[in-house]
Amino acid sequence: MKARSLAIALAAVACLALQAAARGSERIRVATLNTVLTEVAREVGGSRVTVEGIVAPGVDPHTFSPSPADIRSLVDSNLILASGLNMETYLDRLVASVGARGQVISVGDRLPLAINLGTSGGRTEKDPHWWHGIGNVVLAAEIVSRELSRLDPAHSEEFAANAEAYTARLRELQAWASSEVERLPPGRRQLVTSHDAFGYLARDYGFTVHPLSGLSTESEADARNVAGLIDLIRREKISAVFAESSVDPRLVEDLVRETGVVLGGTLYADGLGPKGSGAETYEAMYRHNVGVIVSALSAR
Ligand SMILES: [Zn+2]
Repeated sequence: MKARSLAIALAAVACLALQAAARGSERIRVATLNTVLTEVAREVGGSRVTVEGIVAPGVDPHTFSPSPADIRSLVDSNLILASGLNMETYLDRLVASVGARGQVISVGDRLPLAINLGTSGGRTEKDPHWWHGIGNVVLAAEIVSRELSRLDPAHSEEFAANAEAYTARLRELQAWASSEVERLPPGRRQLVTSHDAFGYLARDYGFTVHPLSGLSTESEADARNVAGLIDLIRREKISAVFAESSVDPRLVEDLVRETGVVLGGTLYADGLGPKGSGAETYEAMYRHNVGVIVSALSAR
C-alpha cells in the first residue's frame, strides 16, 4: 500500500517540477534525505540556499518513506541530496519522477572508498553509513560545493570558501577523535552494537564491529548471532556493549542480562539527534559517540 500511494503521489506532482523550474528564485532550494547532509548543505550554501531536511533528526532513515507533502517539497527543490548506497530504497522511484532535471545527487554513491560488503542476490552491497568516516563528510562538502556552484556559478567562490572552513572544523574533530581512541589499547577496540552501522568508524580507528543485526535496522538478529555474541563477550572479556538511539534496545539488554557486561550507553548510528539530545550537530554527534565508546571500553 505504501509503495502504491507513493507512486500515485509521484505521478500527481510530477508536473510541479516544470512549474518549479520555470519560476526561478534567488536562493537555491535544497532538500535533503539525510540529517548530516542537511548540515553540510547549510554550512556550504550559507545565505545562498534554503535547506529543507525531509528526513528529520531522530527519524530512522531505513524505515522512512516520503509522504505526499514530502514529495511535493522534493519536486519543488533545485537539488535533492540523498545518502545513497541504497539507504533510500524509494530513490529509483523518486528519480524517475524528478530525474529528468538531473537534480538528485546520491552522495554516498560518489564516495570513492565506500565499504564493500560483498555480493548478495547479484547485487553488490555497500555500507550506507558513510558519515561515520569524517573523511567522507569532507568529500560530501566538496560534492555539495560543486553541485551548488553548478546551479549558481556566480557564487562558486563563496561555496568553496564555506566548504573549506567547514572542512577545517572536520579535521579538528578528526584529530580529537584519533587522540581519544589512542587511549584504548587495540585489544579493547571491540564494538558490540544493535545494527551494522559503524563500519567506517571502525575502519578509521581500528575497531572491530560485532553487530546484532545487519546493515538495516529492519534486518532481524537471529538467535545464532545472539548466542555467538554472548560467547564472544565472555571469551574476549569485552567490558561494554552499546544501544542505538533508533533501535529497540531489548536485544542489547539481553546481552547485558546474559553476560553481566555493562551497557556502555546509546550511540547515534543513523544520523543526527533531535533538539535537546546533545547530538544535534555533526560534531556533537561524533563527540558523543566517540566519548561514550572510549569511556565505556576503557573502564575496568
Ligand atoms: Zn543504519
